[in-house]
Amino acid sequence: MAATAAVGQTLTMPLPIGADVRSPLPRAKWLENGLIDAGGSHEPYIFVVRRGGERLDARKDYEWNQSEELIRTLHGQGIEVFHTHLYKGFGMAAEKPEMEDARRTAAIAHRYGMKVDSYIQWNTMMYETFFAEEPRAKDWIQRDVSGLPILLVYGFQQSYRYRPCFTHQEYLDYLKQIVRYAVEEVKTDFIHFDNFDLNAEPDSCHCPACVEGFRAFLRAKYTPEKRRERFGFENVDYVNPPQWNRQNPPEKMAIIFDPAIQEWIDFRCQVMADALRQMAEYVRSLNPEVAVEINPHGITGGNRAWENAIDHARLLTSTDVFWTEEENPCVYLEDGRLISKIRSYKLARAFNNILLAYIADNPVAMAECLAFNQTLGFAGTAPLPSAMLEHVAFYRKNRELYLGTEDVATVGVLRSYASLTYHHARAQLSAILVEQALIQSRIPFQLVFDQTPPLTPPPNRGGESGVGRPSKIQVLVLPDSECLSDEQLARIRTFVERGGGLVAIGQAGLYDEWRRLRPVPGLKGLVDGQAPARDYEEEVEETVTAGTAQRKTFGKGRVVYLPAVQFDGPLPEAEPYFNIGNRFWKRPRNWEEITTAIRWAANADLPLEVSGPDFLVANLVEQGARQRRIIHLVNYDAKNTPAISSLRCTARVPSGNVVKDVKIYEVDAESPRPLDFTTGPSSATFTISEMRTYAVIAVSW
Ligand SMILES: [Zn+2]
Repeated sequence: MAATAAVGQTLTMPLPIGADVRSPLPRAKWLENGLIDAGGSHEPYIFVVRRGGERLDARKDYEWNQSEELIRTLHGQGIEVFHTHLYKGFGMAAEKPEMEDARRTAAIAHRYGMKVDSYIQWNTMMYETFFAEEPRAKDWIQRDVSGLPILLVYGFQQSYRYRPCFTHQEYLDYLKQIVRYAVEEVKTDFIHFDNFDLNAEPDSCHCPACVEGFRAFLRAKYTPEKRRERFGFENVDYVNPPQWNRQNPPEKMAIIFDPAIQEWIDFRCQVMADALRQMAEYVRSLNPEVAVEINPHGITGGNRAWENAIDHARLLTSTDVFWTEEENPCVYLEDGRLISKIRSYKLARAFNNILLAYIADNPVAMAECLAFNQTLGFAGTAPLPSAMLEHVAFYRKNRELYLGTEDVATVGVLRSYASLTYHHARAQLSAILVEQALIQSRIPFQLVFDQTPPLTPPPNRGGESGVGRPSKIQVLVLPDSECLSDEQLARIRTFVERGGGLVAIGQAGLYDEWRRLRPVPGLKGLVDGQAPARDYEEEVEETVTAGTAQRKTFGKGRVVYLPAVQFDGPLPEAEPYFNIGNRFWKRPRNWEEITTAIRWAANADLPLEVSGPDFLVANLVEQGARQRRIIHLVNYDAKNTPAISSLRCTARVPSGNVVKDVKIYEVDAESPRPLDFTTGPSSATFTISEMRTYAVIAVSW
């Protein structure tokens, strides 16, 4: 197991692969009280100088960014965690004086009762100083197929930043010295590992440790018999990582059929997950209350596993918090697109993580963050803008509304790893568009991942009881989830038989988890008349799925089949790697068909209905112990539509309860206001006469 790998293994020994990274590690408890983090700067002076182009007074700026004056100001403004530099990748010898500065700075922040968030570079080796300190490090870097070092990809001028290879135990052992310094000397409370990803093909590591590691991974993962099924032969001693040619660049590959490429993607994801697990366990062995955070970005529309070796389902079990620097501002555009980071927040919630994102420049982003993250995360760098300070004050004053909440979302959207990774152009677009329809219709939903489909039967279907219990899925949506295993298909079938709702779209269930075409459609019986799909193609052509929409009951459940999610308008030109960036983030043409299907499959069991324009978004959470549900409403068009009036809401509460009280909280209001409401069976209906950017409504029973 990676977690117990001995320190100082031989040089080319790859990490043991496949540690159990899917079960979550215990979390740092202090984060249960929420997170308000701000800096400070994460750049050490040595980096500012090496990068070039700095101001002549850069040293003064570096000093100010860790001064008591700055820390005192942030503390006075309600910031609770101070973010500062610690290690950038030059090697410990070169950075030691500035690491000592970071230690002194942490002591100041602690004196003010703040916690400390320390920047540690996960993925940079500034070889000019590093090799001088540690000559063995020449063997620890990532090398491409020609043996050249693989670089970080900033601008044109950072070729001094090599990427280390994470199959090298010796590099990880080196990094552990930095981590130990952070925990024991700096006494940090929070470690931020930056640049947590790998480069896209053809820039993948072909060093001897990776090549051998890949073969060892295949031997460990499959029995000889299974390898024969996978590759046609058993002996994988000569299987190499994929290589590319000029006519067929990797970014143009539409469907990934090749089993070795599929396995290489899995290997790269697993190497990152195992290295992280090892480091997270090390941090916790030193101090279980130190939070672990990485910066892999969230759901960006990219094929994260294929491009960047990021499978969130294998990473966020080791972290408390993660960063996304995705460029998805919170805005409603004239062409009808609503751009948000809601998917990334839902990803975080699915794995009990907090998300950090840039929110300080836009009150809608702050509202979105409070609504979907249930805390603030990263408030920005000093000086903080006044809108940010207002939201910090609002959050601190009304903190009890946000603590210990669980999302209430009876609709689950499957984000199937194999479907998204092997046929991104189709499966990602379908997932994005279904999510977009749900977001803009204010239907609460959660993201479901392969390992976590909570496909237990919904409780007491058909009655009032059990409606919308937190985390319980009552309708599962399969947005072109093509690649489903036999086991997943069996679980889905049982789920529906026992009363679950299913909305299958397009090519759902037509392939297995290796994307081999199923001669008998996987959902046959649940879904009839799905158009046949294709097996191997030399030249892939995307087609629009034919077939007709259908509804049926199956066992105690309901199934809807929709042939397609339709993009509204001409589909944008394909981007490299078939990235489904926010040019595609538009409510689909058949959004009504989709939401009607979901409502029918839910059999009237949706926990929240809110009227309003398509730029109004809702989230619903519950605090069971406090006997209340809390609705968060965010106006994404606040810039052009500063106020929205006459919103009609119906909120359900757990069955058998009578609503006693409804209150609305707003950022610029002194105190909450009561709202008139009428009670229904385990529900309340009320009207919000006017809201601006953000409203929070607590419904108590
Ligand atoms: Zn390597």
